[in-house]
Amino acid sequence: MATKVGFIGLGAMGMPMASNLQRKGFDLNVFDVDASKIETLAALGARRASSVAEASRGADIVITMLPATQHVEAVVLGDDGVLANIDADTVLMDMSTIDANGTDRIAAACRAKGIAFTDCPVGRLVLHAERGESLFMVGAEDAVFGRVEPLLNAMGTTIYRCGKPGMGSRMKLINNFLLLTVAEVCAEAIALGTKLGLDIETMRDVTGATTAQNGQFHTLMVNKVLKGDIEPGFTIDLAFKDMTLAMTAAAEQRIGLPVGAAAHAVFGGARATPYASKDYSALLDLACERAGVEAPRLKA
Ligand code: NAD
Repeated sequence: MATKVGFIGLGAMGMPMASNLQRKGFDLNVFDVDASKIETLAALGARRASSVAEASRGADIVITMLPATQHVEAVVLGDDGVLANIDADTVLMDMSTIDANGTDRIAAACRAKGIAFTDCPVGRLVLHAERGESLFMVGAEDAVFGRVEPLLNAMGTTIYRCGKPGMGSRMKLINNFLLLTVAEVCAEAIALGTKLGLDIETMRDVTGATTAQNGQFHTLMVNKVLKGDIEPGFTIDLAFKDMTLAMTAAAEQRIGLPVGAAAHAVFGGARATPYASKDYSALLDLACERAGVEAPRLKA
């Protein structure tokens, strides 16, 4: 019998991930506060749930793919939430990017009820999720990992075991701190190069052929902002959330992150602009506005 999966959160990432599970034969029961998203999955054959409780009841595995810590805590721990509706036969798999302390609180609540829990945040972009080429950073005990592994293989190509529950969330905040800081440096470099009269193709080709090569310029920006597409993707608002996770973790550890602090401030400022709900590759457009130069676009 097909594994029963309750999938909660069908946004930019949850939608393609759930679609891949549905196409690959899992028995999905899906919920999102935005009912139109449930209909998209139902058209692929998934069952419609009318609440978190309904998506959770009877599932072998419940997946949450929600924006931030407060959403996951409300959905999992809240009245008539996931934990109130599953028992020890069900695994809870949170795939959202949240505060590791929040992950620890959820793991502890699961332990208290004898429920298996794993944190599996997701790496790479929406375009990879659509192709079933995501990467996963897994915090899990061995027995739990064995139960979720077939789902991860259906949604992605690459799995890293990062340690016990909570370590997936910790790895993810390091990963995003690095990529989001690099994204801002790329935006600044391209804005300066444009002001100096370099064309974008030249900058792409040269930096792509030296050790300046990186995924933010050469995978993200060339596929999004440099093609004139700043629809998310991954929003500046969510990027700011992730930079804040890193800055908060650094404060808790009593360490300073001077370069990261500057990048965090850029994301913070960007949230006050119309770019807040746009893709984070639009950092380039903001950097060009600050430089007083027209943002470059690739010709083809
Ligand atoms: P999103 O905002 O596009 O989607 C979130 C979805 O959750 C929305 O459809 C929203 O309606 C739904 N939702 C919110 N509250 C809910 C609730 N109480 N019950 C049910 N549904 C609810 O976000 P996203 O880009 O899909 O990101 C989801 C998570 O994955 C975030 O933690 C993000 O940081 C992380 N992530 C995003 C990307 C990316 O490229 N977009 C990549 C990797 C990881």
